[in-house]
Amino acid sequence: MAKVVVLPGDGIGQEIVPQALRVLQAVMADNPVKLEYEEHLVGGAAIDALGYALPQETLKACQKAEAILLGAMGGPEWDNLPAAERPEMAGLLPLRKALGLYANIRPIRVFPALISASTLKPEVIRNVDMVVIRELTGGLYFGDKGRKDNPPSAFDTLIYSDEEIRRIVRLGFQTAQQRQKKLCSVDKANVLESSRLWREVTLDVAKEFPDVELTHMYVDNAAMQLVRYPEQFDVIVTENMFGDILTDLASMLGGSIGMLASASLNGLKGLYEPAHGSAPDIAGKNLANPLATILSAALMLRSTFGLEEKAQLIERAVEQVLDKGLRTADLAKAGERILSTSEMGDAVLEALGK
Ligand code: NAD
Repeated sequence: MAKVVVLPGDGIGQEIVPQALRVLQAVMADNPVKLEYEEHLVGGAAIDALGYALPQETLKACQKAEAILLGAMGGPEWDNLPAAERPEMAGLLPLRKALGLYANIRPIRVFPALISASTLKPEVIRNVDMVVIRELTGGLYFGDKGRKDNPPSAFDTLIYSDEEIRRIVRLGFQTAQQRQKKLCSVDKANVLESSRLWREVTLDVAKEFPDVELTHMYVDNAAMQLVRYPEQFDVIVTENMFGDILTDLASMLGGSIGMLASASLNGLKGLYEPAHGSAPDIAGKNLANPLATILSAALMLRSTFGLEEKAQLIERAVEQVLDKGLRTADLAKAGERILSTSEMGDAVLEALGK
């Protein structure tokens, strides 16, 4: 029995997470190792019930679990709290930190049926299938920062240790090894000392992976290449801030934000969540697209539990549903029939033969 903590959180999290759970339960029904699900409060829902965005009980359960499935945190109800007490600041960031989730993984794939949903031309994005790996607990966002007087100024420090670089780059190589065996390391080694160390360490780690083709790209060029010729990428690995910007850019290749899954990992342990937020504008209306959360559940089976076949079953079911023309409101074109959140969940289960 392996433990999964389920955190629906706020807004549409309450609607999309149950659909992902139905799908997980269906594909895992015949698996010898069972998953045990334990639901906990987090975010605004936890503030309302217990006064804290990340209650001790929730954190302890997450520390004991192998994997966590999260919906989203935050919403206008909690926007007037001081910044440090808001659900995202007091819930999500401390949770990632406490669990040491240093690697953020975002698969970016264009489902054939959704090619027309992207803002880019079909011929540019048709064969996009990449994974972006972003370092999540180091770099500029976590280095020394502050203000000075005379003259008034501010500073942020971009610092990376050899070991921090080594573990994320190694994950990049391992991921590439399971795919097309192409790794692109993104840095700014022409300007930044931290990037020069990044490149040295990457070259050193590359010796362990002779079967993977390694390239280096400056971040400004990578931004351009992602919209010019995105098909060239298999796996991208990069530091925290570059990854923050590039993952948002890359997310638009696939069309709707309602399709994007993500994983934050520390070894095999992982937090799996859709890339979008709590969508307060459509919360409680059974309108949200549950597919990003369902695809996050597939990532969980692959990355934490090593169940590649089960993960692919889910991904193929999602593809079939889209091929049939089934759409939630965010994906539908004018005049197309719109499925509710739960109807989309039903459609995926049907595609799975459940
Ligand atoms: P958002 O991602 O919640 O919504 C942006 C737009 O995309 C909205 O129009 C929304 O309706 C739409 N959208 C998002 N997910 C969708 C889905 N599954 N199906 C259909 N449409 C979808 O971003 P926002 O509006 O900037 O933020 C809302 C709240 O969520 C804020 O409180 C923010 O801080 C929080 N947030 C949380 C996380 C997280 O928990 N990881 C991430 C981002 C934002």
